Amino acid sequence: MLDGVIEPGEPHLQMIYSKVLLVNDLVDDLFELSKLEASKAAFQFSEYPLEQLLDLMKSRFELEATDRGYRFSVEDFQENIPRNRYVSISMDLKRIEQVMDNFVNNAFRYTPPGGIIKIHGEIHSDGLFELGEEQLLLVGSLPCKVTFKVSDSGQGIDEESLPYVFDRFYRAIKAKNSTTPGTGLGLAIAKEIVQQHDGHIGVQSVKNQGCTFYFTLPAMLIQEQA
Ligand code: ATP
Ligand code: MG
Repeated sequence: MLDGVIEPGEPHLQMIYSKVLLVNDLVDDLFELSKLEASKAAFQFSEYPLEQLLDLMKSRFELEATDRGYRFSVEDFQENIPRNRYVSISMDLKRIEQVMDNFVNNAFRYTPPGGIIKIHGEIHSDGLFELGEEQLLLVGSLPCKVTFKVSDSGQGIDEESLPYVFDRFYRAIKAKNSTTPGTGLGLAIAKEIVQQHDGHIGVQSVKNQGCTFYFTLPAMLIQEQA
């Protein structure tokens, strides 16, 4: 356009504009990732009951997922918690929401509408669930671990790509060869956030059968006051 070779017009301006947005996102993501890696990002930890987090995920994603034509559900996985106890997790809520956003947005991106997207999980507590009621009354708060999972029925991830999806800029073969937008930084950022919570992040996938992204956080099983 500057050289007078191309007529200034909307299609080209639109193309330039979308590139500008992409570069802008890239700069923001890179800046955030380098702050996280240098442990310079400030985290605001507070306690949240698991119940509240599950409600939050439902209200955050359900409408968009169903509007976009997915079969979406948030499963309640608290059934094996002993009576008079609840799970509380210490986290920076905004950051953990960011991890969830990336998981769910990836599920949207790599699953055709009509597919299934499910948020589910597990609570792990060494031996606690086997204790009898009386023994349980004697112990106060107990440490446990909570795993949040996002499963989809999309294209899945090929085996060769699986170990690398959390690396910065990595995009699996299928994503790289498609027109799907993305910079490949989302999961690298998610990994840093989870690690700053002393957690663990991972993925499981069977070719062409979708995938499950998960993260595990330390938590407490709190005894409710009478
Ligand atoms: P962005 O930086 O915008 O998040 P992105 O989504 O491409 O870009 P990541 O979120 O880091 O980047 O994901 C990295 C790669 O992992 C993706 O490019 C894709 O190849 C693969 N991937 C992630 N989630 C899924 C999924 N649910 N199904 C299939 N492939 C996935
Ligand atoms: Mg992403």
